[in-house]
Amino acid sequence: MGSSDTKNFCPALVGSMSQGAAGNPTVAMVEAAFRHHDLPWRYVNMEVAPEDLATAVAGAKAMGFQGFNLSMPHKVTVIPLLDGLGDSARVIGAVNCVVRRGDRLIGENTDGKGFLESLTEVVPPAGKEIVLFGAGGAARAVAVELALAGAKKITIVNRSRARGEELVGVLRGQTSAAAEFIEWTGDYAVPATADVVINGTSIGLYDGGARVPVKRESLRPGLVAADVVFSPPDTAFLREAKGRGCTCIDGLGMLVNQGVIGVRHWTGVSPDVPAMRRALAEALGVSIG
Ligand code: NDP
Repeated sequence: MGSSDTKNFCPALVGSMSQGAAGNPTVAMVEAAFRHHDLPWRYVNMEVAPEDLATAVAGAKAMGFQGFNLSMPHKVTVIPLLDGLGDSARVIGAVNCVVRRGDRLIGENTDGKGFLESLTEVVPPAGKEIVLFGAGGAARAVAVELALAGAKKITIVNRSRARGEELVGVLRGQTSAAAEFIEWTGDYAVPATADVVINGTSIGLYDGGARVPVKRESLRPGLVAADVVFSPPDTAFLREAKGRGCTCIDGLGMLVNQGVIGVRHWTGVSPDVPAMRRALAEALGVSIG
């Protein structure tokens, strides 16, 4: 900690509200950024039950929190407790990052934006055809950001029809991207016209051997393959895609970038990305290669 740690002062506060908060790797990552830039800020990991969320948000506001992240199960239920929403959070219908602007608490969604920053380093999505497996919270955030960033077409491939069709309805109704739903039965063949394929499901989370049902031969050089799963970052999906010559993007980048965007929102400082990625990998106990 910097010199400010030894003084008697009130740090600027941010943090995270979730249920099952223990072990949240974001704490180490954000605190590493504060240390790296000698910022007198603290990121507090807070266990909050659903029935206490309203009191917790009011308490954070009263205590001068500059913002906070929300994780399971608060990303949707927090919305009526806030004073406003950012554009993509409104379309996504979920908030994972609250930012204090004056006296107002504004809800943003940085999950999809974090993914977008990772992808854009490799291929900007404007005008691209994208295949996205999944229609849960992460996939929804990713799909909306890709559409708002100008993706030409997004194909949602999901096991449950209801969730998949709902997401396609959001994309068609609230963005200018073309969108189509494919029900996921058996191995999916990625069309030759696709530029990017993304695993936005939880397949592979904490299971490096779990297989995403995709036709191996449809993964080809020139295709960008990305995964939202961050632990382990070298998922079976990405290993297979890499073996087939695809350019690969792991889920650690998305997680780091959403933290980077949060720090930027709260402090106005653009934090050091490698320092945050190192701290995150250490907290997760994974290798960053
Ligand atoms: P949800 O529970 O909201 O959605 C899960 C999705 O995975 C659904 O589309 C579900 O399909 C699908 N799915 C799960 N198991 C299977 C299976 N066996 N076969 C086919 N489809 C399956 O979870 P989230 O969207 O919140 O999280 C998804 C992943 O994203 C997690 O691994 C999470 O850790 C990761 N994540 C990563 C972030 C990052 O920064 N890297 C940020 C946020 C999340 P169905 O609708 O049919 O049930």
